[in-house]
Amino acid sequence: MTSLFIPTETSPSETRVAATPETVSRFVRQGVQVLVERGAGAAASYTDAAYEEAGATLCGPEAWESAEVVAKVQPPSMEEAAWLSKGCLLVCMVIPSAQQELVKALQAGGVTCLALDLVPRITRAQSMDVLSSQATISGYKAVLLAATHLGKLCPLLMTAAGTVKPAKVVIFGAGVAGLQAIATARRLGCVVEATDVRLAAKEQVESLGATFIEVEGAEDLEDEGGYAKEASEEFLQRQREEVARRVAEAHIVITTAQIPGRAAPVLVPEEMVRSMQDGSVIVDLAVESGGNCTLSKPDEVVTEHGVTIVGTKNLPATVPADASNLFSKNVLALLKPFIAEGALTLDFEDEVIAGCVLTHEGAVTHAPTAELLSNDEVEA
Ligand code: NAD
Repeated sequence: MTSLFIPTETSPSETRVAATPETVSRFVRQGVQVLVERGAGAAASYTDAAYEEAGATLCGPEAWESAEVVAKVQPPSMEEAAWLSKGCLLVCMVIPSAQQELVKALQAGGVTCLALDLVPRITRAQSMDVLSSQATISGYKAVLLAATHLGKLCPLLMTAAGTVKPAKVVIFGAGVAGLQAIATARRLGCVVEATDVRLAAKEQVESLGATFIEVEGAEDLEDEGGYAKEASEEFLQRQREEVARRVAEAHIVITTAQIPGRAAPVLVPEEMVRSMQDGSVIVDLAVESGGNCTLSKPDEVVTEHGVTIVGTKNLPATVPADASNLFSKNVLALLKPFIAEGALTLDFEDEVIAGCVLTHEGAVTHAPTAELLSNDEVEA
């Protein structure tokens, strides 16, 4: 019987948990022994009693050293990583390029790490995709945050005291977060326009009742993986000109534009912020990768030129119950195919596992990360 440990998250402001009572009971039904650290779900409103009822055994942090599988949301701290036993399986989010010391520690400790950020974005793996499930939450929460910072109503209201015009929203980037932001803003009654460098996004934007901002001479900047390629400075300039008028009239601007492995493109420079109406709001979801707005600050809400700019980093952690609900189902979907009679045996030939295994048996198995680490060694 494989033992699966769900620790309490220790990163500041992390409120999510990698298993809920629902997913615990599904692991237990598969014959897995689930150990949940006391209080692990408290910040997401999942009580110890609910985990026990679902079949988990409550425990303390000593399970870090004995469990065969550890599933968590954030990467472990260096101290936590040192507790993991050789051959242990760790399942969590890791951005390897940003956590090179941790990757080296996991490699040296003989830990097998499945990095949830690396799960291939193929149709079969959609149910395992934490980037999508958590981006959906970020897109939703970004609109609610903007609406609460805005001193104006979102929908068209016709009242005896007069008519309130709907709020105008401009969304940069129509990927998973951007599309959810469009849908949420539309549900609040806003008038929404959106832009993206991938032409495939146009149809999706329009199907949600928003207007796609066309950039003249737009070439399709979508790569084989469905992600955006880096746009030329010339394209970005044309895009800025095209959106400038809309941004100047907007009440809310939400930016979600990212390019994997690169700094986020600058789409809202200071002069664009200056052109906006007093009291309008920008929410920059790309703040962690450098920001789409030059004035946004990580984990701060600042006011510049009369515009409130929200740079809250971990928005899914502000909706911990459902963020954990979806995250834990992604983890279950990833591991369940490999559980038989209570024992977890990964198939490293499987396309999804092969795509997301970061370290295994003392080696860094993710080729781009291995290359990055060896380049660093050569430079050192
Ligand atoms: P992301 O977080 O990497 O980027 C967000 C959006 O920003 C993307 O739509 C990107 O095109 C856009 N962007 C980048 N540079 C821009 C610029 N200069 N101006 C405007 N927009 C810009 O993307 P994501 O949300 O992770 O999704 C990327 C793609 O992957 C989408 O096509 C999505 O449908 C696809 N996807 C597929 C699966 C799957 O099949 N399993 C799962 C999730 C996402």
